[in-house]
Amino acid sequence: MRCDDCERTATQISESHSYCSRCFTRRFSTMTVDGVKMGVTDGFKAVLEKNGLGREEGESMSAWSARCKAWVRETSFGNMIKGIT
Ligand SMILES: [Zn+2]
Repeated sequence: MRCDDCERTATQISESHSYCSRCFTRRFSTMTVDGVKMGVTDGFKAVLEKNGLGREEGESMSAWSARCKAWVRETSFGNMIKGIT
């Protein structure tokens, strides 16, 4: 069965909808940032911007990704996941 929103295989299926995990998350998952509840896409964007990691105008995807990876490596989180990635 296909997702109602894209061509991926549906993994979240009910009587009212069939979504892949990505589309289901985009539609229904929320997170709270600084006490404000928002969708996960907006939430992740807010967390990135809060840490100075928002994508800058004209910044390529690869340059942005490299900047984010470099930031993670400099944090305790980066040390924690070292060896996993
Ligand atoms: Zn989908």
